[in-house]
Amino acid sequence: MTTTIDWSREGDTCIALLRDLIRVPSVNRGTRDEGDGNERPAAERVAQHLRDAGLEPKLLEKQKGRTNVVTRVKGDGSKPPLLLNAHLDVVEADAKSWKHDPFGGEIHDGYVWGRGAIDMKHMAAMSACVMAMLANDVKQGKKKLSRDVVFAAVADEEAGCELGSSFLCDEHADEVRAEYMLGEIGAFSLHLFGRTFYPIQVAEKGVCWVRATYEGTPGHGSMPDPESAVVRLATAIKRLGRGRLPMHPTEVVTGFLHGLAQELPSPQRHVLRRLTTPQIASLILDHLVRDPIQRRSFGAMLSNTASPTVVRAGSKVNVIPGRATVDLDGRTLPGQSESAFLEELREALGGDPQLEVLRSLPAVEATSKTPLFDHLAATVRRHDPTGHPLPYLIPGFTDAKAYARLGTTCYGFAPVKFDPTHDVNFTKMYHGHDERVPVDGLKWGLRVLYEAVSGFCA
Ligand SMILES: [Zn+2]
Repeated sequence: MTTTIDWSREGDTCIALLRDLIRVPSVNRGTRDEGDGNERPAAERVAQHLRDAGLEPKLLEKQKGRTNVVTRVKGDGSKPPLLLNAHLDVVEADAKSWKHDPFGGEIHDGYVWGRGAIDMKHMAAMSACVMAMLANDVKQGKKKLSRDVVFAAVADEEAGCELGSSFLCDEHADEVRAEYMLGEIGAFSLHLFGRTFYPIQVAEKGVCWVRATYEGTPGHGSMPDPESAVVRLATAIKRLGRGRLPMHPTEVVTGFLHGLAQELPSPQRHVLRRLTTPQIASLILDHLVRDPIQRRSFGAMLSNTASPTVVRAGSKVNVIPGRATVDLDGRTLPGQSESAFLEELREALGGDPQLEVLRSLPAVEATSKTPLFDHLAATVRRHDPTGHPLPYLIPGFTDAKAYARLGTTCYGFAPVKFDPTHDVNFTKMYHGHDERVPVDGLKWGLRVLYEAVSGFCA
């Protein structure tokens, strides 16, 4: 490094910014009503931080109050840009179930508490700080960048990205077009059986929401019908809910599980390896993976899934209805077609339902064989020599869906180090009660992110 940075001061600045962002209750319920989401004050706070460093952020809105901030530190243009992305909206928080105010941004026991501490105002704060530091480096002639570094702090991720990353890609593509994007979810420390891993997202599942309808003969409630639409629907939901769709271990997931296995002792090592054999994976999950959260999480990485969520039938207590429906939140692995998924679903439900696709979005998968991925992994290893970075797939959905449409290679890289001796980890914090981020672990992350970006783009 040619620059000397006062990391203690930069870290404090980042923590202060995060606390301010948490104090903005940008709760996105997806209603699209006035006041829902309202990322504007958070966007203003981010923009102020960027302006203080001499940058000229743009505030862009598709709907009033649903503000996105985009800013850029210029490089010499010899290589295409790198984009940092963080969403400013959060999911709801029920204060009664929290130990500290979810919108207080308070510090207790070495953690910043609040909704968004991990999902993902921490990344917004880190990215804004990295941008300010890079702007200063360039201004003072300490650094020359070969790529523009762009930062987008976006609205509306928690309700499907329409007013945020999707809007930017559709209507302001030139502002956010990049070769690479770094965003959620990845580079948090994951402690398993005494070892430390840093999963880096390279792939995410697709979405395929489906309505399944069962029909039967309507009739009077005084004469029960074992073949009624409601009974058939209930049987189908039970079959689907208790079963599992066929296993399709993708290359990324196989690599991830083998990578974990390699570092773990017996018998965990053998269990994880066998999970990648499709014929026995389901048996292994049911009988040898004891932790129910791990079982669900590995299961979701290895197969398409469908969760029954909304059930509708009947309107009068003494009338057997002629139809009953269930909406299924379907998630598909990279490489799986919609029709193949529907076939699996039909088989799993049984009883020959009508299936209607309500919404579908493709899975996203990037290669980890890029100079950037190698650089990210090396940067993490340098800052935690005991840690093992690994490419992985998330079962959920992120802004990567939008940017991938522009041809961007997207990685989940929002570094945070958790203390392995505390019972606080990424999975528990994500959309959970008492969401919080370790102060020291976030300062560590800021340094990793800065070095990852400045090292790659300098
Ligand atoms: Zn998120």
